[in-house]
Amino acid sequence: MPIDAAAPYDESNVFARILRGEIPARTVYEDEHSLAFHDINPAAPVHILVIPKGAYVSWDDFSERASEAEIAAFVRAVGHVARSQGLASPGYRLLVNVGADGGQEVPHLHVHIFGGRRLGPMLSR
Ligand code: AMP
Repeated sequence: MPIDAAAPYDESNVFARILRGEIPARTVYEDEHSLAFHDINPAAPVHILVIPKGAYVSWDDFSERASEAEIAAFVRAVGHVARSQGLASPGYRLLVNVGADGGQEVPHLHVHIFGGRRLGPMLSR
């Protein structure tokens, strides 16, 4: 079910539970502000999620409330993970679903990194 973008942060969401170590994740990168792990249901040969460690519901929430340090670290982390997976040269796609119309299902900001094949058109019509 897509999330309600106006709802407050839900501490029981699956990515909050991963951050607390309550459920496992296949981590590929971690720093003070960010965590990256493989998507459990990959939609491409490489499908990694990058999340901030802070409690942000969505891109909308993060871009409004996060500190400069968190934002800088998060952007750096996404780029670093893509490069570390060998995706910079063949290319890759970043996707952030926001709220109900965006199809966001987990109410903790995450950037999808897709790669490993030609990804085709951006959206179906
Ligand atoms: P979105 O629709 O943008 O909210 O994407 C949520 C993503 O989280 C989906 O691609 C799911 O496959 C992924 N996901 C859900 N639970 C887990 C989990 N426990 N570990 C890794 N990825 C997950």
